[in-house]
Amino acid sequence: MAKVLVVGGAGYIGSHVVKELLENGFETVVYDNMSTGQEVNLFAEAGFIRADILDTAALDKAMAQNIDVVIHLAGKKAVGESMENPALYAQNNLCGSINILNAMLANGVKHMVFSSSASVYGTPQYLPIDENHPLNPISFYGYTKAAVEEYMSWYATLKDFNYIALRYFNAVGYAADKSITGREKNPQNLLPIIMETASGKRDSFSIFGSDYDTPDGTCGRDYIHVSDLATAHVLAVKKLLADKKSYVLNLGTGKPTSVQEVLTAAENVVGRRIHHHYAPRRAGDPAVIYANAKRAEEVLGWKPRYTNIEEIIKTTWNLEI
Ligand code: UDP
Repeated sequence: MAKVLVVGGAGYIGSHVVKELLENGFETVVYDNMSTGQEVNLFAEAGFIRADILDTAALDKAMAQNIDVVIHLAGKKAVGESMENPALYAQNNLCGSINILNAMLANGVKHMVFSSSASVYGTPQYLPIDENHPLNPISFYGYTKAAVEEYMSWYATLKDFNYIALRYFNAVGYAADKSITGREKNPQNLLPIIMETASGKRDSFSIFGSDYDTPDGTCGRDYIHVSDLATAHVLAVKKLLADKKSYVLNLGTGKPTSVQEVLTAAENVVGRRIHHHYAPRRAGDPAVIYANAKRAEEVLGWKPRYTNIEEIIKTTWNLEI
């Protein structure tokens, strides 16, 4: 069976990817500096290297272990932080990714699955967004994702290398079997913030903007279950090994859910009101964004299993009860 190195494999999405790889029989090694990764997210069946992606010697050593495919999810991902501290994002997301790519080339590792993001598109010019939509990131975070996609494209042109960039929309939920329990510390995203409010860790949360030109005035996003994302990574690994071509693929459900709808669904799941207040719009938020993910279906045969927001929220709330 092929051997996969999961860089960032102790994180939220990474640990779900590792679970799915192991279930599919892949020999799996996690590479993580544990800055946001968590011990409880490590699987005993997978190897583990604790190291940073800025440590080129450690990367070189890891790649020398007959790795067939690298899945790279070791990115910093807070949009606001990337605007305040671009140097941190340049170093981690740009330099770190270049280090990984160079260590791969130096050791003959030819395939990469890259954790990209819908933030490469910026403000939608049309909806749903397909992969041909122009790339106009409006955050430095989004820029770093678009830039790494470009590096990979050049490496694929110049060298014996190919990649699948997966542009995630809004990742939510947890594995339904509760095998992954490490919750993100200081979450910045809507659903974990709502869950923390519901469980009493926070008193209230803000709804950023209720005057958007949308049916209920709040922003619409495409919430995709993390286990569906994980499945797409495994299919991408298989695809790279089988046909050795590069692809860029959206991963989303193809339908928007508003902040208000997420709140109502969460209240239904939790069985009580969740304290919230209305706050001004957050800078840089498009009113609505959702994916056309037909290409992922065509290329990988992938389709999300979770399409109901309440069902998705239940997989998160189940960890609290
Ligand atoms: N949001 C909100 N309150 C929060 C966090 C997020 O109203 O405390 C809104 C945000 O404005 C956006 C949606 O929830 O419309 C999803 O935001 P998130 O940060 O989770 O993901 P993004 O779409 O920015 O990647």
